[in-house]
Amino acid sequence: MPVSVANFLRIKKEVEEAGALLVAVSKKKPIEDILTLYKQGQRDFGENYVQELIEKQPLLPADIRWHFIGHLQRNKVKYIVPICSLIQGVDSLALLDEINKQAIRCNRTIDCLLQVHIAQEETKFGFDEAELASIMPLLAARKNVRILGLMGMASFTAEESQIRAEFQHLKRIATQHAAYFSLTGTPVVSMGMSGDYSIALKEGSTLVRIGSLLFGARQ
Ligand SMILES: *Cc1c(COP(=O)(O)O)cnc(C)c1O
Repeated sequence: MPVSVANFLRIKKEVEEAGALLVAVSKKKPIEDILTLYKQGQRDFGENYVQELIEKQPLLPADIRWHFIGHLQRNKVKYIVPICSLIQGVDSLALLDEINKQAIRCNRTIDCLLQVHIAQEETKFGFDEAELASIMPLLAARKNVRILGLMGMASFTAEESQIRAEFQHLKRIATQHAAYFSLTGTPVVSMGMSGDYSIALKEGSTLVRIGSLLFGARQ
């Protein structure tokens, strides 16, 4: 399935009407497909793999805002800090410290989201609720990172009520900790993918990460 401008325009309208941001997840997709959506006005793109991001980024327009949404290893932070607009999957204090350190070296401040484990599956990364509560007071000391909010992935299930409950949970935690985030408005709550973004928008998502509905299925 090729990139779909029709899907893009429809989803973009739905996401904007909900007051959220659409991040087009372009992992494993070619430069030409990214440019197709860029020409339609899309500027926020998400990638999961460091190597792929650093190969693509120089070949594409400089005003693209790159979101790193995958699992990030500490030894690769130095490659993406200079080019990322938002690092979404921060799942340990050690990783945050490395981002802070590399940000200082580049003389930048890097926006980040903390990833929270909200799904039933054991395999998904992220802080649990108790860990999150214990690290929130420590964030302010990392001066070159700004934590804007939280990111989470719901369970892979057809059970809509389960997905809804997990999104409500993430939204509730983000609201609870709002005072710790660097912002003026409400916290960023990154939730919703191709299969569940409409539910996420109803539950207060402020940022959806959509890949296959825009770019077609991945190999
Ligand atoms: C791949 C990926 C997405 C996009 O998934 P689709 O189902 O293709 O929309 C969103 N978020 C994360 C963290 C991903 O890894």
